[in-house]
Amino acid sequence: MNLAQLLIRWGRLKSDQPAIYFGTSVWATFGQWCARAAALAQAFRELGLVPGDRVLLFAQNHPRYLEVLLGCWWAGLVAIPVNARLHPKEVQWIISHASPRIGFFHQTVNSALFSELEKCFEFESAAMDALLASALNGSANTREIAVHETGADDTAWLFYTSGTTGRPKGVQITTRNLMTMGLCYFTDVDPVTPDDFMVYAAPMSHGAGLYCIPHLIAGARHVVPQSGGVDPAELFGLGHTLGPLSTFAAPTIVKRLVEYAAQTGLSVTQCAAAFKTIVYGGAPMYVADIERALQVMGPRFVQIYGQGETPMVATVLSRQHLSQIHHPRYRERIASVGIAQTPVQIRIADTEGKPLASGEIGEVLVKGDTVMRGYWQDSAATQAAIRDSWLFTGDVGCLDKDGFLTLKDRSKDLIISGGSNIYPREVEEVLMTAAGVAEAAVVGEPDPQWGEAVVAFIVPATGAQIDLADLDRHCMENIARFKRPKRYILTASLPKNNYGKVLKTALREQLKTSLQTS
Ligand code: AMP
Repeated sequence: MNLAQLLIRWGRLKSDQPAIYFGTSVWATFGQWCARAAALAQAFRELGLVPGDRVLLFAQNHPRYLEVLLGCWWAGLVAIPVNARLHPKEVQWIISHASPRIGFFHQTVNSALFSELEKCFEFESAAMDALLASALNGSANTREIAVHETGADDTAWLFYTSGTTGRPKGVQITTRNLMTMGLCYFTDVDPVTPDDFMVYAAPMSHGAGLYCIPHLIAGARHVVPQSGGVDPAELFGLGHTLGPLSTFAAPTIVKRLVEYAAQTGLSVTQCAAAFKTIVYGGAPMYVADIERALQVMGPRFVQIYGQGETPMVATVLSRQHLSQIHHPRYRERIASVGIAQTPVQIRIADTEGKPLASGEIGEVLVKGDTVMRGYWQDSAATQAAIRDSWLFTGDVGCLDKDGFLTLKDRSKDLIISGGSNIYPREVEEVLMTAAGVAEAAVVGEPDPQWGEAVVAFIVPATGAQIDLADLDRHCMENIARFKRPKRYILTASLPKNNYGKVLKTALREQLKTSLQTS
């Protein structure tokens, strides 16, 4: 099965209807998108690329992204979408590790990085137009351009992990993984109709881009904001002009949308006119934040938990779960990441991989057709991550008796103080409910008496004055004494990676350096 078939189907059925928008303007109809993907596939073949060769995409969000992705799959090539904001050294490392033959980029990135590739094309350049035109002129009929016979377990997307810990690894995401992920979007996340719009605000190199698959399966429309990024005013404007949008957003983006709606006085009805569904995930969403989001924007949220190694699919906290405010376990549920998505099993295991009973805390394991084939050229890491068909996620959590998974933390973020385990997430949840706290991140620092001590980094809300004694009292009132931070550090911002995840390693480094210099 080749993912390009999804596009070909709609290219035939509704050739003249809008498929991709750039801002509010139509960038391509389904027929044009299909013809351009076919043309690119043809051009790739003429350039000598063979199935399995890699193609790098290093660009901020742009409609060409969708054309190039489908062109790659049409020809049986592997796409490597790379976040446009990565450091040049990280991109160089990915290039040397994955050896892509050609690359695509957009103005805003440093194209000098591509000097080692055989060829590279700027998305909006004459060379790109020529690439499309020459192939299209050569073959009048898109249908004559053969679609590669892709195996279900062939790699379609090489996803470099976001690197919150160590070097990014190349996750081989197969056609089977993507098809399964796409289909279970409908069963677990949200039904989609051809009238829907998927808007790409978060980077298309990550989860947001993966969600082009369910929307392609359903023949829905795709919208890339003109800014190529996240601008709440632009996004609300697009929704109000085109029709309610669906999107995938990290919790930090959700927060920005909610603040925009609150500050501009938009009613829930006006929010509903702009957004059909906001899927959030990729990092912890604190209870205080999702409650506010629901209050300001209404019931349009769904949470997913997954990771590059099982893209977008592990658990889901549905719109219904988020709406059942009278359920006796509502508060626990909204602090959880929900229940296993249809195609996977979730297990909590001890350090040896033995299953643990509900309520017990251990590593989260996932098994099913969305689990990656393995890491690119790293069999040792693959064997460590997948054992007996179970993916060891490195996340720590517990399942309740109804099957709801609550994440405690990444295993390496666990703090052990005086022999007791402290999960930073739990402390952060409490800090986030204190007045004037906009963001909080908790890490451990070496402590001669306790082994490790809890340190909280706090970002005050704009204009807020935080009294640390009050904050400490708030913690005393809400969590066990031993979990309460021994130290609070006020800071203007938290270090985050390009997908909005807080870099706890950077915070720990910061503590180490400050200890050395003090
Ligand atoms: P990545 O592979 O870059 O997508 O990162 C995946 C990691 O992000 C997971 O292993 C979790 O640690 C974290 N993550 C993903 N979804 C959620 C979620 N809904 N809540 C909390 N953490 C999440």
